[in-house]
Formats: sequence, C-alpha cells, structure tokens
Amino acid sequence: MNCILVGPPGAGKGTQAKKIVEKFGIVHLSTGDMFREAKKSEEGISKLLASGQLVPDETVVNMIKKRLEKDDVKKGFLLDGFPRTLNQAEELDKMLKTKNIKIDAVFFVDVHFDEAVKRISGRRVCSCGASYHVDFIPPKVEGKCDACNGDLIQRNDDKENVVKDRLDVYEKQTRPLIEYYKKTGLLVNIDGLKNESEVFEEIKKYIKAK
Ligand code: AMP
Repeated sequence: MNCILVGPPGAGKGTQAKKIVEKFGIVHLSTGDMFREAKKSEEGISKLLASGQLVPDETVVNMIKKRLEKDDVKKGFLLDGFPRTLNQAEELDKMLKTKNIKIDAVFFVDVHFDEAVKRISGRRVCSCGASYHVDFIPPKVEGKCDACNGDLIQRNDDKENVVKDRLDVYEKQTRPLIEYYKKTGLLVNIDGLKNESEVFEEIKKYIKAK
C-alpha cells in the first residue's frame, strides 16, 4: 500500500499519519519532519520554515528521490506533506514510473480556514514527538509533556501570524493538487472536522477494502 496524505496545515495529517503507519506497517515519509531535522544544520531552510514558505521544488524532489531509493519503502509508504505543488506531483509521477511503483490512494483531509487557525495556533509539541493542544488536548501539567515531562514549545511556524501565511501558501500552491488527483481517480475525500478516531476509521475502512 502506497498512499499520499494531502490537506491544509491543521487538518490533522501528522496525527493520522502516525496511526496509519503503525496500523499498516508502512513507512512514514514526512517532508516537514525531514526539513525540521535538516534545519538544525541549514540556515536557508530554517528561514523558509519559520516564515511558512515552501522549500524550492528541486530541493524537496531530490530529497524524496533519494529517500525512495531506500529498501524500507518496499513494504509500502505514506507520503505526508509531499507533493505540495503541481510541479512536485508531476515530478513524483515521473519518479514512480521509472521505479514501477503505483500510488493506491490520495487521502484529502480537509478543514476550513478558521478551524485550521484555531488548531494550529493552540498546538504545543515536545521534542519526544508528542503533540498537544492548549484547549483540545491539554497536558496534565501545563507546559509539560505527559509522556516524558519535557518542556512543551510552540513551533515557530505555528505562531498565529505565520499560520495565516501557511494557509495562504496552501490555497495558492497546494489546493490545485486536489483537481489533479481527482482526475486520476485516486482521490479519497475525508472530512477533517470529524474527531481523530472517526477520521482514522474512514481511512482504515478504505485501506482495508483495497
Ligand atoms: P509540514 O510539517 O508538512 O507543515 O512542513 C513544514 C514546512 O516544511 C513547510 O511549511 C515548508 O516550509 C516545508 N515543506 C514541507 N514539505 C514541503 C514540500 N513538499 N515542498 C516544499 N516545502 C515543504
């Protein structure tokens, strides 16, 4: 099973991605996570991430190309945060064609603008990977991770002024992908306003039916 997760920031892609890869034993390929890791050593990427702008297509395409060379992707993969532009989608198609790999589904998890802003600006994360929300999923002790007692922080790109720019980038550069994948017949619409388990149930049902 090879699939793609698309949706605006705040739709819950990261949460669903973790559940999907755990349940189906496939590899999680999150370009956002890869760049957050890379930004520790690369100043240019760090600035783009902090401002909510996209990293150039060539950089991200090369990164994914290299990642798809690894053996572990043979057990199946979930692309999360890639592709994000029409050009990236076309480059991905070319890459997959040469490797004779097929995509089985593109899950489009959607939420409206106000909900996305509310969800992202309240998000707090721990370096161990756990994620909280000040109102919807508060930690037991304010500012501390339930799992490891580490300090919770707000990602720079989750701050309210940057969130609006990220959503704007999404509308202009990523939303056109929905039409692109609709035409391929691979698009599966998922209502991201439903709760976490309901969204996962829908995705799970689809994957099992496949
Ligand atoms: P995410 O965690 O998916 O929201 O990604 C965080 C940031 O990483 C984005 O705001 C972009 O700066 C960068 N990024 C992640 N994936 C891509 C991509 N496919 N193309 C360009 N930039 C990306």
